[in-house]
Amino acid sequence: MNGAVPVPAVWRAPFDVERLRADFPILRELVRGRRLVYLDNAATTQKPQAVIDSLARVYGQENANIHRGVHFLSELATAAFEDARRAVQRLLNAPDPREIVFVRGTTEAINLVAHSFGRQQVGAGDEIVLSEMEHHSNIVPWQMLCEERGARLRVIPVSDRGELDLDAFERLLGPRTKLVSVVHVSNALGTVNPVRRIVELAHGAGVPVLVDGAQAVAHMPVDVQAIGCDFYAFSGHKVFGPTGIGVLYGRQALLEAMPPYQGGGDMIRSVTFERTTYNDVPHKFEAGTPNIAGAIGLRAAIDYLRRIDLAAMGAYEHDLLEYATEALTCVKGLRVVGTAAEKSGVISFVLDEVHPHDIGTILDQEGVAIRTGHHCCQPLMHRFGVPATARASFALYNTYAEVDALVGALRKVHEVFA
Ligand code: PMP
Repeated sequence: MNGAVPVPAVWRAPFDVERLRADFPILRELVRGRRLVYLDNAATTQKPQAVIDSLARVYGQENANIHRGVHFLSELATAAFEDARRAVQRLLNAPDPREIVFVRGTTEAINLVAHSFGRQQVGAGDEIVLSEMEHHSNIVPWQMLCEERGARLRVIPVSDRGELDLDAFERLLGPRTKLVSVVHVSNALGTVNPVRRIVELAHGAGVPVLVDGAQAVAHMPVDVQAIGCDFYAFSGHKVFGPTGIGVLYGRQALLEAMPPYQGGGDMIRSVTFERTTYNDVPHKFEAGTPNIAGAIGLRAAIDYLRRIDLAAMGAYEHDLLEYATEALTCVKGLRVVGTAAEKSGVISFVLDEVHPHDIGTILDQEGVAIRTGHHCCQPLMHRFGVPATARASFALYNTYAEVDALVGALRKVHEVFA
């Protein structure tokens, strides 16, 4: 066990992590009498003061329902909500704000596509291609659809390092494939998948692609036009924004051809008991009162990210991950699960003779928050022959000192189990 890996030069480079940390009030909190070391960012990220303030401002000064009001506050709230949509459009470099649908999160975005596009396009004998490293939210909706339609899932295998087998992927694509749905960055392994190449191969076979970006947007610039995907999903709470708000990007032509997902207010143009006509996209997919404050809070998070040099952030996070990987690899009996060449934000590991839940509990006593379990990736755990892993996941505000605290706390685990 060794926490003394040399700190790379970038530690003193332009990315000023201490200044950023000051923006996140929770990072000043004590947990069990110690300064919080928050390494559970893949589950949810902490919020900068700007996001917290924006929520207080909405409810304190600007609250009203949107779209149908003619009074001042309703117009203000509508403008803020639609501005948030344009902020997401710019963040993803989507061609048009009508391609941005507000949903509850990645899970709801995928369910929307499964219910709407899926039910319209998938029939008996058809196939949907996923990968072995998908989160349950990118497996179960498709499984439910397949059961209903008599279709089946095909699964891209994952190598021992945690990389997708693209040759196998190519062989899976066929005349019955209706959709490919793959994760951009694995929440359990940290693997960054070559989504651009996956889209190229799928489009070559005439198949649209959904990318689950839940773990990507907080760590790298995402450009849906450069990726070329047809759908892209992410959750606000994983990019320093509020819970209960997320985004589905969909190509306009596809969204326009898809039937609504839920019925209700705001998604209609006119209703009679005989017939309802639907609103234009994206409103067709936003039935009922949406999470207005959530969208505005997400916009504040996006504005916060836009002020950060993302290239410097990427370099810093990359070096932090390398430092942590090297430091953890020195821990006796520790094995990292997921050693892909391209990784971001996540280290999953197992310790000889110690159940991951015991690791998590002992680390918690030291004020170090990590996650243990199957990470909603049971098929992937099965693939690696483990019931669970311990996972440290990083965000832009984590530090080398926190990695050292993790390694120090793991030393305590060894003492307990010695
Ligand atoms: N996909 C991935 C890769 C995830 O990490 C998560 C959240 N852990 C989800 C989907 C689901 O996101 P949410 O719970 O915010 O809908």
